[in-house]
Amino acid sequence: MNEADSQYIADRATAAGYGITADPTKAGIVLLNTCTVRDNAETRAYGRMGQLRALKLADPTVKLVVCGCLAEQDRDRMRKIAPHVDAVFGTSIEDLARLGDTLAAWRPDFNDDEEYADERALLEHMGGNAADCIADAFTHLRAFVTVQRGCSYFCTFCIVPHVRGRFDHHPMHTILDGVRARIAEGAREIMLVGQTVNAWRDPENTDLDFGDLCRAVAALEGLERLTFISPHPKDFTEKIVRDLQDIPHLNPRVHLPLQSGSDAMLRRMNRKYTPEQYQEKVGFFRRYLPHWAITTDIIVGFPGETEEDFRSTLEYCANRTFSQAFMFVYSPRRGTPAAGWEQVPADIATERFKRLVAAQDASCRAYHERKIGTTVRALIQGVSRKDRKKLAAKSLDNVTMIAPMPPDYDAQLYAREPWLDVRVQSAFTWGGVGTIVRRARRFGDEGTAVEQPILDLAAL
Ligand code: SF4
Repeated sequence: MNEADSQYIADRATAAGYGITADPTKAGIVLLNTCTVRDNAETRAYGRMGQLRALKLADPTVKLVVCGCLAEQDRDRMRKIAPHVDAVFGTSIEDLARLGDTLAAWRPDFNDDEEYADERALLEHMGGNAADCIADAFTHLRAFVTVQRGCSYFCTFCIVPHVRGRFDHHPMHTILDGVRARIAEGAREIMLVGQTVNAWRDPENTDLDFGDLCRAVAALEGLERLTFISPHPKDFTEKIVRDLQDIPHLNPRVHLPLQSGSDAMLRRMNRKYTPEQYQEKVGFFRRYLPHWAITTDIIVGFPGETEEDFRSTLEYCANRTFSQAFMFVYSPRRGTPAAGWEQVPADIATERFKRLVAAQDASCRAYHERKIGTTVRALIQGVSRKDRKKLAAKSLDNVTMIAPMPPDYDAQLYAREPWLDVRVQSAFTWGGVGTIVRRARRFGDEGTAVEQPILDLAAL
């Protein structure tokens, strides 16, 4: 959700005539979009604010703006802890709009007819912006469209309803307009974003549910791929899953946060489902969409978790339901009920966490190993961060694929033909490694053969 908000802010900034830079030392305005879902994120955000103070000391005209969940939660406190911050905006749609207006007001001499300051700024404006707002040739290929803000479920560990408010579903026609705009900008994959995305109901016609929304989006001309994040198990009805079955544009992956395999823990977490009900939802996917990957979130060491509770989670993960899991040791969040409960000792939580990671890593690896010898179509992400001689791409089931850069690699060419067929040669916990054999302009195209890279024996 923060990434989708960042995209909106970057769009407003570019529309007001700003260029976007990844380098804070080159920026006139530095914007920090903060998260408070875990203590670590909060600590890092305050640390970053402290570091950025040096920029203002070096150049007092630089402005520092903080927005997002931590800003919403700590509005007053933040002004005391970090008085050098020029403006603080929360998470509401009104605050986001005000942020956009403020950016525009800080650039009063911009005029719509004016040429963009440089070609790069123009390209960034034309091409849309990245999830993290640092546009490169590929970032416009994936686009977020927010369908709903806030959450009304109040899980006892979660800060979201406190900082983002209750459900606010966007009307279907607004969402469709958003998707059309992103397709026109060149998006190949649309991600529908909501805190509890499958709870979506059209506020103008509450008969229309998330399945109807996906069908309507899939009917739009030019849509190549569709995906969504983040659903709640409770809101997957059989009807919705049957609707999804009929949409060939959907990426074959569903994120189904389990959080715990223990009934007692799920009740304490206020998750609104039992392990049996969760299993029923998994069953819907196995019945109607058996080829889909299921990914999840797990919290270890939630207050009151016994060894027996933990074993229920461990056993669930060991049964290889999940192709990937985001696992966390419970992090108390100020203002949530569970933060005030007796905590599981840190050493016990850490020891359980390690056991869970070991079990789930085996599942991830087994899932990825099944791809060895196959060719998967994946959407390019760009040059690998770890090895500049390799490209990174994501398969439809969201698995990272790394492959040596072909000899004809050119960012603009590969942005126009972004679908890569990767022949998978080896698999790891994090994804797969292979060779790019074709690239295609459209998802359904056969594509053009790609010349193989010359092997650098010294690098092997
Ligand atoms: Fe937080 Fe998700 Fe629970 Fe809502 S459903 S309170 S967003 S964890």
